[in-house]
Amino acid sequence: MQKFETAREAALALRPDRPLYGFRPAVLEQDAGAFLKAFRGETAYAVKTNGEPFVLETLTRAGVSAFDVASPAEFAAARAADPKARLYYMHPVKAQSDVRLALETYVIRAIALDHEDEVAKILRVVRAQDLAPEDVTLFVRLATKGHAAYELSKKFGAAPAHAVELVQRIDRIGFRVGLTFHVGSQVEDLESYERAIATAAWVKGRSGVEIAALDIGGGFPAQYGRDPKKPGPAAPDVTALVGRIQREVDEWGLGDLPLIAEPGRVIVARCLSVVVRVLLKKGQRLYINDGIWSSLSDSWTGKLLLPARLIPDPARRRKPGAAAPKLTPYRVCGATCDSVDILSRPFWLPDTVDTGDWIEIGHIGAYSLALRTRFNGFYPDDFVELSSPFEDADGLQGFATVEPRAGLG
Ligand SMILES: *Cc1c(COP(=O)(O)O)cnc(C)c1O
Repeated sequence: MQKFETAREAALALRPDRPLYGFRPAVLEQDAGAFLKAFRGETAYAVKTNGEPFVLETLTRAGVSAFDVASPAEFAAARAADPKARLYYMHPVKAQSDVRLALETYVIRAIALDHEDEVAKILRVVRAQDLAPEDVTLFVRLATKGHAAYELSKKFGAAPAHAVELVQRIDRIGFRVGLTFHVGSQVEDLESYERAIATAAWVKGRSGVEIAALDIGGGFPAQYGRDPKKPGPAAPDVTALVGRIQREVDEWGLGDLPLIAEPGRVIVARCLSVVVRVLLKKGQRLYINDGIWSSLSDSWTGKLLLPARLIPDPARRRKPGAAAPKLTPYRVCGATCDSVDILSRPFWLPDTVDTGDWIEIGHIGAYSLALRTRFNGFYPDDFVELSSPFEDADGLQGFATVEPRAGLG
């Protein structure tokens, strides 16, 4: 990767016509370090959030040595970054051939499930390979209810009474038993974790079985942009939130259990931005060369406020005597011909923005690269390395995405 200090320098030097990703390894190391320091248990980074080799290698250098993985490709990516990495196979519903690969080839010994047929599936492989069940920890995924920006808790998880049966069944076979939950993504309230921890305590008490570990999943909120019209509270600081979660664990009598967490978003969100180009300005609309089918699908629900900064093209002639630029909301239309490819919230940018300018969209490290598609033949894949954080650059800065107002579209 070519190296620059800021996205502006990269844009002016390369004049990119295709989206250009700016990777900030120092920011990634800092955010990973902050989580490792805040959390007293084992940090297993969720590879699905951003599984690029340069991300996993940087995390390894920052001290991450365990990974939450869900597929053979993720097993391989994690082990390529760190051959000694400990892998947690936390997808509750798996192909039998993937379970065999996990146990046999990757020597994974921690697996999640939420149904008795999955226990039978894993047991078949364990028997066929003549493994000792007590060397394997099966984590029962608990169903939870929460208020995440992305509600992921509906799809997986056993209800409490069912979880008790699963725990007892797994224990009778001779496996070690763990408990796990995942309350969603960008979870900004403590209560979602509280309720899940309370459920774990109830299941542990009811089952009367020795529990080997508690895995509190991911979902920890990253910092995004702020809304110029609604200066509400920022997302909770991760150190404070993790501290409160740990106190809850202690208060529910689970403090002696080894803890595991599976953070994704909070670790990688800030380490990547994308420099997009304005292909056309049409009134209050900007047509850009990226969109929801490329780097920006994660913001499509409108629940994230992506920060954006204008990088004017110096080759463009300014109108003489123009007034000082004013921050103005623009509707942002994506690169594909699909009519849903419009960002859900406007971007606030200086009203001098015009065709040919660039916009750096910050904090897209989570769920952007992994969710890129080749739809319409667009597939951004150009990277540079940047040494200064997005927040440090100056210039008129629009913090993107506020509630749509009448007359914008
Ligand atoms: C997606 C996922 C994570 C990571 O979630 P973030 O919100 O990115 O922290 C962790 N654990 C499980 C089981 C997941 O599915």
